[in-house]
Amino acid sequence: MSTIVAISTATGTSGIGIIRMSGKKCFEILGKIFLPKNRKIEPKGYTIQYGNIIDPKTNVIIDEVLVSYFIEPRSYTKENLCEINSHGGTVVMRKILELCLENGAVLAEPGEFTKRAFLNGRIDLSQAEAVIDILNAKTELEAQTAEKQLEGELSKKINSIINQGVTLMSQIDVSIDYPEYDVEEISKNNIKIELNNIKQKLQELEDSFDNGKLLKEGIKTVIVGTPNAGKSSLLNAMLKEERAIVTEYEGTTRDTIEEYITVNGIALKIIDTAGIRDTENKIEKIGIEKSKKLIEEADLVIAIFDSSKELNKWDKIIIKLISYKNAIIVLNKEDIGKPSNEMLNCIEIGKPIICISALRKTGIEKIYDEIKKMFDIDKIKQDSSLIITNTRHKQAIKDAEEKIDEALKTMENKMPIDIIAIQITDALQKLGTITGNNISEDVIKDIFSKFCLGK
Ligand code: GDP
Repeated sequence: MSTIVAISTATGTSGIGIIRMSGKKCFEILGKIFLPKNRKIEPKGYTIQYGNIIDPKTNVIIDEVLVSYFIEPRSYTKENLCEINSHGGTVVMRKILELCLENGAVLAEPGEFTKRAFLNGRIDLSQAEAVIDILNAKTELEAQTAEKQLEGELSKKINSIINQGVTLMSQIDVSIDYPEYDVEEISKNNIKIELNNIKQKLQELEDSFDNGKLLKEGIKTVIVGTPNAGKSSLLNAMLKEERAIVTEYEGTTRDTIEEYITVNGIALKIIDTAGIRDTENKIEKIGIEKSKKLIEEADLVIAIFDSSKELNKWDKIIIKLISYKNAIIVLNKEDIGKPSNEMLNCIEIGKPIICISALRKTGIEKIYDEIKKMFDIDKIKQDSSLIITNTRHKQAIKDAEEKIDEALKTMENKMPIDIIAIQITDALQKLGTITGNNISEDVIKDIFSKFCLGK
């Protein structure tokens, strides 16, 4: 395998920058461009040397650096690896990168260091995926869940289910190999019990995905309301800062804006419907259609009404649209008016109703409390069991479960035992894809392409 190099820290000016190099020729290349202050010391793994990076063609000093050494197999990639800690200027880092390239390294692809860690057997695929999740985590809770996965908790669970299946297979194999000893009723019962047990474990993992999705993607929230109800003011109050008003025109594609806030450790992905206006009749229809679509796709709708006025026909349409959703009704502008009885009658559709003033930023906490209750956030936080956050893993678990179901049906129908064996093997193979067994090159490529450079 080639020796790869990349700038591992974010681009831009910073205190220090890290250029990372991994592969057989790593130290040979480093030797050409790095002059340690103390040249007598032979570098050992997990040590740091101080010195200068020089351009071997001109002997010009490029930067004063610290180099960390990792000797194979005890490195991130299990290969010889070094990290050059330079000053964080873009020009300096680029120059060091170029010197590595000129002297025999090739530019790493995104995620290639982690891909090598996977290919060289240091981590499995689900652990590699956890690395991306840690890099992209929006909340502490999400990062902690990914950290558990990186530690191998998911792999352990999956492998224990696979082992259970393998043991079951060995029992079944006996009866296939010695058909003259017809499988006794008792062992058939055992197989059934074991299959049901595996199914239950898979089911639990699959069920955890709903929480996993919330953790990873956040609660997709949309704020709807007629013009001037106070949508932007509420968004600003929730973001706790004044955000520049973005003017959007009908016809432009970017007519919604996404922002994240954190409610008790869970991200709220707020989609602002700034683009929906009904100022002209011809776009009324588009406005309704857009609101409908956004409401349909949302996990949570915050419907905001101006409590100092009577509801208009748009407000009433909104009330109808949210009737079957997770929704919170917010009566805004409590500082200048109380809702009329007629309004209260209209909005009484079995959803929580909260009075606020977006302008004075009062009542906002009550919205958060309601969200916590609605999504059982405290329970998700306390639940220490394993949570599936990755769609690929969920699909594999679902596929495996289907195969186990098929095997159970085959048993019920008293079909030959060889068929059950095939179905169980299929299920185990599906599960194996989570940790990276029997996985196609394309899937691997797709997973690692989501990484950033230098990781
Ligand atoms: P949007 O069109 O729904 O986004 O509404 P805005 O947030 O732009 O608010 C419309 C107008 O109502 C602005 O003049 C706000 O200052 C005002 N407004 C918003 N919330 C309140 C509130 O709680 N009390 C009062 N008195 N005015 C508010």
